[in-house]
Amino acid sequence: MLGAGRFVPGTPDSPETTRVKVRGYSFALLAATPGLLLILRLLVEKGAYLYAALHGTVILGAVLLFPFVILRPSRMVQAERYFAALLVVSAAGFLSMYARHPQQIIGFELLGSILLFIVAGLLLVLPPRWSLSVSLVLLLVYRLEVAHLSGQDTAGLTLSQWVNTGMFALLMVGVVMRETLAQQAERVHLLQEMALRDVLTGLLNRRGFEEAVQALRVDGRGGTLMVLDIDHFKPINDTFGHVEGDRLLEELAGVLQEQADLGDALAGPGVCGRWGGEEFVLYIPQPDPRQGLLTAERVRAEVQARTALRRPVTVSVGVSAWWPDEKLRHAFLRADEAMYAAKRAGRNRVSLAPDGAALRVSAGG
Ligand code: GH3
Ligand code: MG
Ligand code: MG
Repeated sequence: MLGAGRFVPGTPDSPETTRVKVRGYSFALLAATPGLLLILRLLVEKGAYLYAALHGTVILGAVLLFPFVILRPSRMVQAERYFAALLVVSAAGFLSMYARHPQQIIGFELLGSILLFIVAGLLLVLPPRWSLSVSLVLLLVYRLEVAHLSGQDTAGLTLSQWVNTGMFALLMVGVVMRETLAQQAERVHLLQEMALRDVLTGLLNRRGFEEAVQALRVDGRGGTLMVLDIDHFKPINDTFGHVEGDRLLEELAGVLQEQADLGDALAGPGVCGRWGGEEFVLYIPQPDPRQGLLTAERVRAEVQARTALRRPVTVSVGVSAWWPDEKLRHAFLRADEAMYAAKRAGRNRVSLAPDGAALRVSAGG
């Protein structure tokens, strides 16, 4: 469903995504802990203190990234990069250790498993473009170093090499597919949002407004529809230019969105949108339009007060009931009529449509 707030493309992970990631990473760390600690013990037992210290630092660094993100969730992407860097340092450490002391501290099979472990971590945290290239480099290093590092007959290692290579590849394919699907879903979501929003103000456009209002009208109680039109907007454009006019439309949209979020004191928040040009709509789930008048009057007064300092503008507002089983265009017609009545009566005022109940019969719902 559409949110009431403005749409800002290209924002980082949503709080929900961050929560899911923290949960997933916590589980991954928990699952990895026994293996990591056993490797640490092995390094200490074999007297490889330098590598043990490096390994311990990497583990500690990974653990510290949790409070780093939990304290400020917007740092998730940063934390993922730090973690990837820790993994690369770790891989370099194990490879150099093996190159210096082949088979003495850890066996070749274990080295392969550790590298696989590291690649799995990289695939988990890096965007596919990066994780793929970094993993391929690691894979290549692993394959190229076999002959030099193993100290064994390479023919005997062929089987495990290919098994590990296959596992690398499967992991990569899985993660890339998942990431691709997530990106597609995100793109579709963005396009949907763009199709339903007005480019200039970020408010819902006509279609978006209608869709968002449907969600509010499921209780079948009906509500109040308002049509707002800026008074004497053309002279503002003519005098100060269209850029200034646009700026004013944006400012007004901000005020309207705030007022829509506030909504009706009794019935709750509403939905607003840009109908077109300098005309806006606001819906509140208040079935009694006479109660709805209070909100309309507050919106009118707020627009006047908020624009008073820089470029004073006012709006004329038409208010009408929107009956539960009625089409938007019928309610809009009445509210629009009422808005023109407000204009004729001198502008900067609110006007209630004549008895909607009587019109409802003639409109046929
Ligand atoms: P009234 O009080 O009767 O509503 O007078 P008005 O001048 O506001 O009404 P009119 O319909 O004559 O003019 C509306 C103006 O709104 C004309 C058009 O240039 C301007 N307008 C419509 N859309 C935009 C927009 O996206 N940007 C800007 N800057 N101006 C716009
Ligand atoms: Mg106008
Ligand atoms: Mg107009």
